Amino acid sequence: MTSTLLTGIGELTTWEPERPASTGAALVVEGGKVAWTGPAGEAPAADAAVDLGGRAVVPGFVDSHSHLVFAGERSEEFAARMAGQSYAAGGIRTTVAATRAATDEELLARAAALVAEMVRQGTTTVEIKSGYGLSVHDEARSLAIARQLTDETTFLGAHVVPQEYADDPAAYVDLVTGPMLAAAAPYARWIDVFCEEGAFDVDQARAVLAAGAAAGLRGRLHANQLTYGGGVRLACELGLAAVDHCTFLTDDDVSALADSGTVATLLPGVEFSTRQPYPDARRLLDAGVHVALASDCNPGSCFTSSIPLCIALAVREMGMTPTEALRAATETGARALGRDAEGLGTLRVGAPADLAVLEAPSHLHLAYRPGVPLVRQVWRAGRPV
Ligand SMILES: [Zn+2]
Repeated sequence: MTSTLLTGIGELTTWEPERPASTGAALVVEGGKVAWTGPAGEAPAADAAVDLGGRAVVPGFVDSHSHLVFAGERSEEFAARMAGQSYAAGGIRTTVAATRAATDEELLARAAALVAEMVRQGTTTVEIKSGYGLSVHDEARSLAIARQLTDETTFLGAHVVPQEYADDPAAYVDLVTGPMLAAAAPYARWIDVFCEEGAFDVDQARAVLAAGAAAGLRGRLHANQLTYGGGVRLACELGLAAVDHCTFLTDDDVSALADSGTVATLLPGVEFSTRQPYPDARRLLDAGVHVALASDCNPGSCFTSSIPLCIALAVREMGMTPTEALRAATETGARALGRDAEGLGTLRVGAPADLAVLEAPSHLHLAYRPGVPLVRQVWRAGRPV
């Protein structure tokens, strides 16, 4: 196995408990994994060496929430929203119509381009949901396409009730938990529900998650984005890996998150793009909740693929420190995908050598220099992308 020494690292963030970040550091990768980290002067010999010239190195971002399989776009809806209209879950139907009309090749090309856009901004692991097909055929093909781009695929047939079932949502839940789940499950690792007014209620979410579990899919949930409700408590009760959005939380919701260990994934690009109030990350962190950050990249409520933007928003608007925000977008993002045990989202010895080299001396610049393309180079499994 060839080994490569990365040296001249201005600041190395590993999330090692003893030494989360250090200056004047080096890192050795071998076999796609981190083999050694420590002071540059003590680095072991390696087959090849790369001098990073004082730049900071951080773990690659783990974006645990995105919707990349779709056609069309909704920039006019965004403009209308900025002119004063409010966001409602029903806008998803516009994208459903365009997605159903698109070919597999068109959907794959769009999704692959978005993944490439994410990688250029430092993301090395991405979760992709279905949810713009909403028919047996279109959900299964959306997931088959997503599976070509990532292992972290999520069946979101319960995204919104499609137009043709508007008069009979119960029949749609039967479809989702029956034939649609059967067709989708071979391509999915996760199952998700948009639990919100205008989408699915807590009882419907419970039924969908139970059916998914019976088919071998682990659960995650969109909840408490637009209103208070029982979605977060359901996620905690079921011990789901993550519940996402968490904007409108009661004290009971916060306690349930802290007690259950379910990750609260915050998606500040959504609040930015819908002009909604931001979730209160400080309140969650102070209560001992695991907080992740993800993009929620989708054509309706948030069309950014940029984790650095999410980090900057989390620091500026949600009470996180720059270091907390980076951890939320890396190590805790991996936890939200149940991938923490393998060290994903860290640069500890043994972890996948997925990392971003920043055009900056420290990770603080991710929040300090918002909107600036600071990711100079990305390595995945020990190789430059
Ligand atoms: Zn989402």
